[in-house]
Amino acid sequence: MQQLRYGAYDFAKKVFDEIRDFSRDPVIGISRQGYGPIEQKVHDYLKERAKELDLEVKIDRAGNLFLTLPGLDRTLPCYMTGSHADSVPQGGHYDGLAGVVAGLTTLYWLRQTKTQPKRDVTLVVFRMEESSWFGKAYVGSLAMTGQLVPEDLALKHRNKDQTLAEAMTEAGFDTNEILRKDCSIDLKRIAAFTELHIEQGPTLDSKKKERVGIVTGIRGNFRHKECRCIGVTAHSGAVNKEFRHDAVMAMGNLLYRMDKHWDEWLARGEDLVFTMGVFKTSSSSAIAIIPGEVSFSIDIRSLSRDTLNRFHALLEAECAVIAADRGVRFEFDRLLICEEANVDPDLSQHLVNAASKAEIPVLQIPSGAGHDSAVLGNLGVPVTMIFVANQDGSHNPHEKMKLEDFMLGTEVLFTSIVTYDDLNA
Ligand SMILES: [Zn+2]
Repeated sequence: MQQLRYGAYDFAKKVFDEIRDFSRDPVIGISRQGYGPIEQKVHDYLKERAKELDLEVKIDRAGNLFLTLPGLDRTLPCYMTGSHADSVPQGGHYDGLAGVVAGLTTLYWLRQTKTQPKRDVTLVVFRMEESSWFGKAYVGSLAMTGQLVPEDLALKHRNKDQTLAEAMTEAGFDTNEILRKDCSIDLKRIAAFTELHIEQGPTLDSKKKERVGIVTGIRGNFRHKECRCIGVTAHSGAVNKEFRHDAVMAMGNLLYRMDKHWDEWLARGEDLVFTMGVFKTSSSSAIAIIPGEVSFSIDIRSLSRDTLNRFHALLEAECAVIAADRGVRFEFDRLLICEEANVDPDLSQHLVNAASKAEIPVLQIPSGAGHDSAVLGNLGVPVTMIFVANQDGSHNPHEKMKLEDFMLGTEVLFTSIVTYDDLNA
């Protein structure tokens, strides 16, 4: 088969297997915390492979790794590809890593075929893309582009008494350097950035023919890590309904209202997804106690910034109504914003052409999840993404991806790199 050419399939399989071996969570799935020892191990492993492939290795101040196959004309800006090597806690093996391995496999493939492209081809491996450990997404790419602020580094680990700054220091990085406001690389030196990623929804996997997607846009998100609803803790038997300020009931009411709004907004054609996923009552809560406090997270995503602004405002307004009705109050923590991003239409079209050249059917789809490429896209780098079909969802230990599908996506990437300068000529 075409995608088995030059041993690229076997190479990719070996890399996935070897990295899986040291990434297993002791309980279930894969755990590679950003700035943790396993993520570092992946970076060390990739540096070894880079040596075998005779690639140039660079590491920036935030620990992002750059592996470059030099092009014929080194004055030209590079074609960059890559993704992140970290995972969510007890997550799957392919979120992020697929893009890293696709880049490495492409470089391997170029070496095997003795192809030297006109311009440098660089694989970037970003640090800490996942927000699940410290509540902040795209830490590596934001650090690379000088966009982190001290509040980000003060965020606490999900279940350890450690700040992000402390984790970075422990991993051997200088946080003063990480907080610098300039870019660690010259963004003008990136002609094109293509990130391959597993699709984190079910669309491609439901298709027989198109197992690969070319992304049309990336949803932005508004998030709160930990907000609180505060009522009054009391005896569950002794306090009648009219005297209660039950925080859980208030949250139930809030969820019910927002779910209804969400339906209405979808019905009128807005792009919107809404999740409140982390709920905690206080540690002293018990069956016989009216809950006086609930903490909760918020995650709102859309391709449209206007939709995000309006839905967030609506949420605050509903909280105010419920607060007045039920004698509770809401406290919001800092709003974390990830900007939505447009993909570069020319680069996207180039990928569509590359796919057709490789005779790989593709589907054009939006990206629901955010990605490092959005960070670069928002700073004017021409970005696009390749999605690969994936089974059983993502951000869970059951994530599956067929290597055959992965190789189709990788072949689109490979073809887009080797034809990039033909097309621009
Ligand atoms: Zn990812």
